[in-house]
Amino acid sequence: MSTVNTTDFSELKLNPDLLKNLSSLEYESMTPIQALSLPVILAGDDVIGQGKTGSGKTAAFGLGLLQKLDVTSFKAQSIVLCPTRELADQVASEIRKLARAVHNIKVLTLCGGTPFGPQIGSLAHGVHIVVGTPGRIEEHLRKGTLKLGAVNTLVLDEADRMLDMGFQDTIDEIIEKVPENRQTLLFSATFPKEIMSIADKVMQNPTIVEAPSIEEGSTIKQYFHLTNTDDERMKALRLLLAKHKPNAALVFCNTKSDTQDVTDELAYYKFYAISIHGDLDQRERDQALIRFSNGSVSVLVATDVAARGLDIDDLDMVINFNVAHDPEVHTHRIGRTGRAGKHGIACTLYNDKETRKLELLDVDWVDCTSPLPSDNYLHKPIKRPLMTTLKVDGGKKQKLRPGDIVGGLTGKDGIPGDKIGKINVVSNWSYVAVSSELVKTALQKIQNDKLKGRTFRVRILS
Ligand code: AMP
Repeated sequence: MSTVNTTDFSELKLNPDLLKNLSSLEYESMTPIQALSLPVILAGDDVIGQGKTGSGKTAAFGLGLLQKLDVTSFKAQSIVLCPTRELADQVASEIRKLARAVHNIKVLTLCGGTPFGPQIGSLAHGVHIVVGTPGRIEEHLRKGTLKLGAVNTLVLDEADRMLDMGFQDTIDEIIEKVPENRQTLLFSATFPKEIMSIADKVMQNPTIVEAPSIEEGSTIKQYFHLTNTDDERMKALRLLLAKHKPNAALVFCNTKSDTQDVTDELAYYKFYAISIHGDLDQRERDQALIRFSNGSVSVLVATDVAARGLDIDDLDMVINFNVAHDPEVHTHRIGRTGRAGKHGIACTLYNDKETRKLELLDVDWVDCTSPLPSDNYLHKPIKRPLMTTLKVDGGKKQKLRPGDIVGGLTGKDGIPGDKIGKINVVSNWSYVAVSSELVKTALQKIQNDKLKGRTFRVRILS
């Protein structure tokens, strides 16, 4: 299949409703991965695509499966496997956006960590597109609540991460239940040999498309800092955060216990830091991610495993508190900053023993080694995040909606609407970010006023 030179969506043989909707979404032209893969996808061929989050890969496969969909048949026709719930939610919402112009399309997410019962109910009502994590999908197959006999498109999204997370066997079992006469689309940021062997097993003459990486190297500035002792390493972290004053920085540690120690130490020095690691339950993890992504916590400390599926585009800075064990992991880590043409900073702390790992990196680390900022930075005031989170003890189950919360915060004695940031309504709680300088006013207003005629407990998360 030849590649196309055009980036104009209208050159594709897309259903006119889908095409019209793309212009209403202000998708003016195709991203490189879309321009390369969509003609092949729409021709019905298998595709292996190299695409990271932010490349537009979701729309590439999403348009492919929507184009083929028979809305009149309420059987699952496409299945998208994702490594994490966050990614599955994101993929489902992108597909829903793309499908807006087509009447009555049912996109269902099936992920672990959420109750089974409602999923079974939704499946019984009929579904067109299933997006989910391998574990939960396999459970539904085992229980007989999900049938894949009518599936014509299978998508493996972020296939490398699914393998990293140990989903290989589960994925194999799921694929066995999908009719062989199907289109298979596989997207992955990296291509270890295990991916190619899956591709060999489950795909037919796939076309490999590799989008040119515009961002790598050009927008991420890497720095390396030698720190000889643990104390020096910790101090180096404080100096870097104090100097660069990031609004959003991700600090990677190699172990769970380091994650906790580093966060405790940063909190002791009054940094606005929070950690995510494997020991948190889903609620704690969600809460931490909400606070980081709504801008009320500026430093997130994580292990590689815990940071998987994290979809936060706007990172100013990545700090490797330890050198990653593997060069691919290093590339993955630093690729989380400098997205969408923005500038990003990636600082790596290392000691003498770790130089061996630096040799394997795709960068001249000796050239990029630089002295640490001066100790004077330790005495500068810590920058407070622009936003602060209020937690409301009421959520979806109490039928609260974002609009109710906006209503409760604005108006007489309230705060202006433009001082309200992200609102996340979850099952029994809601989180709303408000400008830090107005947080007290916001708290008072929402405490004094009722929300939908009821009083809910509200407090500041700090
Ligand atoms: P993804 O890489 O699929 O996570 O997509 C990254 C973001 O780009 C999403 O927010 C999409 O809605 C958006 N997007 C995808 N394709 C286009 C396009 N052709 N033009 C503008 N935005 C797009």
